[in-house]
Parts: sequence; C-alpha cells; structure tokens
Amino acid sequence: MNRPLPKPWITAISPYVPGRSTTDDGRKVAKLSSNENPLGTSTQARAAFAAAAATLDRYPDAGATALREALAAAHGLDPARVIHGTGSDELLHLACGAYAGAGDEVLYVRYGFSVYPIAARRVGAEPVEAADRDYATDVDALLASVTDKTRVVFVANPNNPTGTFTPRGELARLHAGLPADCLLVIDQAYAEYLAPEDDDGALEMARTLPNVVVTRTFSKIFGLAAERIGWAYGPAEAIDAMHRIRAPFNVTTAGQLAAIAALGDSEFVARSRAHNARWRGWFEGEMARLGNAGIRAVPSKANFSFVLFEGALDAERAYRGLMDRGYIVRWLPGQGLPHGLRITIGTEEETRAIAAAIAEMAEGAA
Ligand SMILES: *Cc1c(COP(=O)(O)O)cnc(C)c1O
Repeated sequence: MNRPLPKPWITAISPYVPGRSTTDDGRKVAKLSSNENPLGTSTQARAAFAAAAATLDRYPDAGATALREALAAAHGLDPARVIHGTGSDELLHLACGAYAGAGDEVLYVRYGFSVYPIAARRVGAEPVEAADRDYATDVDALLASVTDKTRVVFVANPNNPTGTFTPRGELARLHAGLPADCLLVIDQAYAEYLAPEDDDGALEMARTLPNVVVTRTFSKIFGLAAERIGWAYGPAEAIDAMHRIRAPFNVTTAGQLAAIAALGDSEFVARSRAHNARWRGWFEGEMARLGNAGIRAVPSKANFSFVLFEGALDAERAYRGLMDRGYIVRWLPGQGLPHGLRITIGTEEETRAIAAAIAEMAEGAA
C-alpha cells in the first residue's frame, strides 16, 4: 500500500451528527435540536467567564483543582475521585478507552446516546446494542446481552434521545446482574432536571461500588455548552486510569471559572428546572390530545420530548413543516428512529408555537 491507511475500526465509525442550527435553505432559526438551556447561562457564570480574559496567556490549571473541589463540596464527594473532561463526551471516551479494546464488547441500549458506538469503535472494541422496552432501557435485555467479552456498559439516565428514565431499583438490578469485571458507566447528562424524589442512586453507586462511573455535564442545565466542561466520579482506580489518557489541559481557564460560578448559582439552576418541568408537562399534555392522530410523546424526565408520529402526519413531514415555520428539532432516521422527533423544551413562546404547529399539521394531514 503506497499511502497510510486509517485503521479499519476507525473507518467503521459513523461520524457524530450534531443538532442543526440552520434550515435547508440556510436560514438561522430557533434551535431546539441540541437540548441547550432556553434560559441561557447564569449571569454569575458569564461574569466569571469574562474575567478569565485577564489570564489568556497562561495555561489552565491542568488538574482543575478548584472546580473539582467545588463539585466535591456540592455533592459530598472526594475531590481526588472527581475527573474533569472536555465535555462529558471526553469522559465517555476515556472510560471506554481505559477498559475496552480490540476483542472486547461495549454494551448499551438501542436508541441510546450516539457517542457510545463511536467510543467503542475508536478503541477497536465491538459495539453491542440491547433491545429497548417501549424506547426505555430494558435491564433484562441488557443483562441477556452480556457475554464474557463485555467490558463496558453504558446507560444514559435520563436517556437521550428518548427521555426515558431508569428508576433506582432497576439501575441497582442492572449492576447486581453484571459480572464484577464489567464497568457500568451511568451517563447523567440530564440528572439536574430530575425531581429530588427521582434520584436514581447513580452517584451513590459511584461512591461505593468498585465498578461504577458516573458522568455529568455543564452543557445542559448549567447553560455552558460552548465551553465543553464535564466531570465524572468513580472508584479511585478507574479515575486514575482515565486521567492517564486524558488531554493534559482539557478544560479551559474560562470554562473552569464559569463552571464554578454556575455551580454556585443554585437559583438559576432551580429556575431552569422549574421552567423545564412546567413546559415539558404542558407540551406532553398537548401531544396527548393528538393521540387520535397517531401522535404520542414518550414520557420524558429530561429537557426534551421524544414525539412519535405513527398516523397520517409522518415525522419527516412534521420535521420539515417545523423547519418552514422557523424551528429546528431533531429527526433521527440514522438512529433507527425515522418515526420520531426529539424536541428540546424551549421558551414558553417556542414550546407553544411548536405544539400548535404540530396540531395544525396533524389536522391538515388527516
Ligand atoms: C448532551 C449529552 C452528553 C454530553 O455532552 P457534553 O457537552 O459533551 O458534556 C452526554 N450524554 C448525553 C446522553 C447527552 O445527551
């Protein structure tokens, strides 16, 4: 061969497709395709970000010490076992890369987060999908898919793109059924949207069990998606292994300072959670009224709703109709979901307009 060839497991990757912010004809419209916070960012976090301009010539703190200590204090954790990442995306890759390689299997539920198969293939491991149960994580199906090659199991809770939730008891049952040498990675990108009574126990598992890692992000409720800041918690050995393969200066100074300030602004987080709960509930109620038109929202505990279109109005037409009206949502035919749309809960105005547009299109299609 007279040229360098990428490794076959790399060319086997289907590249990640980000949520769009423009229409087919290039118009910039309301972006409800990436689960960002419609209330923006905490003003305190913005101020901290701006202040970081004073030290642009200096490398960031490679250990993100102040950020890890703030996270540990906020959650009652050991700061030495908190690891920071360039978004939680990096941490998902690190956990996978530390525990899986050629000949190993990485397991997750069908309709799971699209980064899991990428993380698996990147390190030469085989991605394995377990069946879902009505779009939700099916613990029995996951356990039935475990083989002696399974090294890592990914579960997002709440799940993306379906918004479904795996309760504490089910998560514990999954862990109890896994072989002890299997790493369970619980991806809690939307954990801050959960009501306190919905605590799934994941952080407690990561605190006490030798094979559970939890990942979290500042991209969603904290409104810091642009800065790429995530964190993870787990057993010392796993965190140590992940540190060995992370990029040395993986979170910027501005990002570290903004994240600490965002963590301290509990009023903004509470307001974001309340806004989401209110308008997600309202939106799900509106979709329930369209049941006769074959439209159904999968029950969500995240900051988006996954809406199924199984009647005269199909998801692709709804997607294009919403785009024409100025709203970009997420249509995921490439993930085996040509019949659904993932719609971020936006502002009141956006949420009302999208529900009205779907109702109008459904009526037009009947
Ligand atoms: C958004 C999201 C992430 C990560 O986002 P980062 O911006 O990389 O922190 C991780 N997992 C799930 C399920 C998500 O939806």
